[in-house]
Amino acid sequence: MSSWHQQSIPEVVSQLATDIEQGLTDEAVTTRLASYGANKLRKGKRFSAFSIFISQFKSLVIWVLIGAAAVSALLGETTDGIAIIAIVILNAVIGFFQEYRAEKAAAALANLTAPHCRVVRNGHSNVIASTEVVPGDILLLEGGDLVAADARLIETSVLHVNEAPLTGESQAVGKSTDILAPATPLADRKNMVFLGTSVTAGTGLALVVNTGMETELGHIAKLLETAESGKTPLQHRLDRVGRALLWACLGIVILIFGLGLLRGIEPFELFLSAVSLAVAAIPEGLPAVVTVALALGVQRMIRRNALVRHLPSVETLGCAEVICTDKTGTLTLGEMTARKLITSESLYRLSGEGYSTEGAFFVGNTETLSTDSPELFALLRASAACNDAELTLIDNQPGVIGDPTEGALLVAAAKGNITRESIEADMPRIATVPFDSDRKRMTIIRLVDNQSWAFVKGAPEVILSRCTMIRTSHGVRELTEDDRIRLTEANTLLANDALRVLAVAERSLDGIDFDRSASLNDTEIEAELVLLGLVGLQDPPRAEAKEAVAKCIRAGIKTVMITGDHPDTARAIANELGILNKGDTVLVGVELDSLDDEALKERVSQVSVYARVTAEHKLRIVRAWKARGVVVAMTGDVVNDAPAIKEASIGIAMGITGTEVTKGAASIIVTDDNFASIVAAVEEGRGIYDNIVKTLEYLLAGNAGELIVMLTAIILGWPLPLLPLHLLWINLVTDGLPALALATDPIDRGVLNRPPRRSQSELLNLDFLKRTLFAGFLTAAVTLGVFFYEFKIVGSGLDQARDAAFTALVITELLRAFGARSEERTVWQMGLFSNMRLFLIVAVSFGLQLAIHHVPTFQTLFQIEPVTLHQCVSWFAVGFIPLIILELKKVIRMRASEIRS
Ligand code: ATP
Repeated sequence: MSSWHQQSIPEVVSQLATDIEQGLTDEAVTTRLASYGANKLRKGKRFSAFSIFISQFKSLVIWVLIGAAAVSALLGETTDGIAIIAIVILNAVIGFFQEYRAEKAAAALANLTAPHCRVVRNGHSNVIASTEVVPGDILLLEGGDLVAADARLIETSVLHVNEAPLTGESQAVGKSTDILAPATPLADRKNMVFLGTSVTAGTGLALVVNTGMETELGHIAKLLETAESGKTPLQHRLDRVGRALLWACLGIVILIFGLGLLRGIEPFELFLSAVSLAVAAIPEGLPAVVTVALALGVQRMIRRNALVRHLPSVETLGCAEVICTDKTGTLTLGEMTARKLITSESLYRLSGEGYSTEGAFFVGNTETLSTDSPELFALLRASAACNDAELTLIDNQPGVIGDPTEGALLVAAAKGNITRESIEADMPRIATVPFDSDRKRMTIIRLVDNQSWAFVKGAPEVILSRCTMIRTSHGVRELTEDDRIRLTEANTLLANDALRVLAVAERSLDGIDFDRSASLNDTEIEAELVLLGLVGLQDPPRAEAKEAVAKCIRAGIKTVMITGDHPDTARAIANELGILNKGDTVLVGVELDSLDDEALKERVSQVSVYARVTAEHKLRIVRAWKARGVVVAMTGDVVNDAPAIKEASIGIAMGITGTEVTKGAASIIVTDDNFASIVAAVEEGRGIYDNIVKTLEYLLAGNAGELIVMLTAIILGWPLPLLPLHLLWINLVTDGLPALALATDPIDRGVLNRPPRRSQSELLNLDFLKRTLFAGFLTAAVTLGVFFYEFKIVGSGLDQARDAAFTALVITELLRAFGARSEERTVWQMGLFSNMRLFLIVAVSFGLQLAIHHVPTFQTLFQIEPVTLHQCVSWFAVGFIPLIILELKKVIRMRASEIRS
């Protein structure tokens, strides 16, 4: 039913059999989950293991092969037929595991990035996965939350919700708890919040009435059924390349078939050869190999604290040219400690470490008690009164729940013997105007001796401009122009020390009427304030951030710091981290406002630090970079950052401090909020792309080699050097597994020492084609050379010559895989064992190749004989030739580029 908005809160509570204070019990949740089901919208079906297996048989090539097996069987060549079928099944099994693994990784990812929400259950607030919400749950809402279900509001404080996903209205709507008329349309149901909408500001408590498909969004679930295909642009491009290659290979195979007929080769043998060649030459495993490269890369990223929500961004990451990053908590530790306090009378230094409440106040070198300085006491009391944080023990260490800035203020107050508990007991809270980075201030209203008082804190210039009085040890006096100048200078002094500065103020609200339920008239309660003082908080840069910034410089990536903090604080930290280099400037929000989009586009490249900026500025900065055609990454945490994150080429949300909305808009979530993890993700992104390109090159060069061998032999009028089953075996041994090992190669240490790849650059460029064809020719030359030598010069039988060509080709291809790992480093520089998986695969494949020569069934199938040591050594000797030539080519190129530079 959808009449919740017309009922009173007690009616709704009793209908849903719940308790506003305690929430549901675990037992109630279990029964409700069983009867209402999980709180999620129906999604397109996932792939089951069975459907993945079946999909392996959807390729045309496989059916041609199965047809060939059937024809072989009909013509009495039963062993050939069975062998072909065995190979088809083996191919399908390998393909299945590749895809199954990729699908599993993608599903695990979806779970990791699932949204969470806060509810009251068993009398406590808990963070749970949104899918576990049931009717009757009490939702706790605050700015940045995604509303997890349809719910009736039971308490609101300045609560504003963006309902665009439901109503299309992009302006946030204010909410209240009043009962509404039955006919109120959805968009006007102010006492309800709906699944899929997001809280933009304020806080609230809401009682869940509907979940999953029963919600309003559930009713229009089709809206969400625009699921993306999940393929990256690279995968799309590869699909196109794959199709082109398919036709090219088929063309060549048909040509070989035609020429072979003209040469009088026996049609059935020729048919089987042509089909097998088609199977060997078409890189049908490529899409799966690419998926595995992406999926395993994504898993590696998780280990390095970057969670990919949107697969295409993996590719874009590798092209990142600019990373715009928040300061607090990302470049810095985000662990704040109050170091200096300035009141109307003194500058106090504060001793102590971290969030431990051990410490004392000093003026000069003399210790002072807060009780001896009334103005200091008032400053500390207001700092604790305008505060939502809690001090606690985390892993037996003093820690903070909530905003670290507020935690540091609580610690400072505790050092002066003022605790939040005593404040809550003596001065009950009446209302809150929460902090947001745009307003740069926050207010809590409390009842002090039966009178309402507002305690306010925020950025010094914002608070100072709202103060008319200042507190001294003798009481309150007018704030003079001299005071303002002195305090502004003091602010600069603290900021130059890399301290984040907050001003704290208070006022009595006697005679001011404020409406606490809907929207607090904050301009009135935050005016004519009494200034209490400034607090300077230290937030040291992360040790690893400096190294990460240096890596970015080497990688041709510009790091840009974007912060709501004071420009001097920002500059000091940027200098420490090496972000501000010669010629770089700091741009402040107000200056940015004075630039139009065109002027900003001109300026962005010189600016390394933006200070006192808001989320709107972030959006303009992203657009300015994009207008220059630059691939830009942007981080964010608060809800207002979501548009900039969405607009950025790579949107990055903070995992710890980020809101659900920001995470939803981002393509990557950095789980430890650390800048170094962003750089690690870029490194992985580049590595993944490299892996895909080298796998492609390796596969195509091998396939080209096989085509050249067969085509050349037919043109020269030789017997075919490779049998159909040889080709299928080569396909299995040299294509599938080594390619997989290459696709999952460890990242080359040098990936961050070269400039970013151009995002538009074509995959199959001329350079790539030349390299691939060259390697293909080398493989073909060895195979044909060996065949010619055995058959024409030594005069061995055709079977022996074929065996030699077959084994030499396999060995050549397997050895070439080591060289294919890098275009820039030789096998010796990389180390033979640095990709153990490849080493083992190659070793096992060598073993298999030699072993089949000694197994009677294979001897008949492949028409081979036991190998002698002499044969073995000579095949290896020739197999090394292409690898050596390709490695020498690398060395020559590296030398040439050294000489040039
Ligand atoms: P970054 O973007 O690097 O994370 P910042 O964004 O932390 O930096 P904001 O959180 O927007 O910056 O804070 C801007 C200013 O607002 C701070 O310099 C500080 O003066 C003030 N401020 C920060 N937190 C609070 C708070 N909880 N209450 C009141 N004022 C605050």
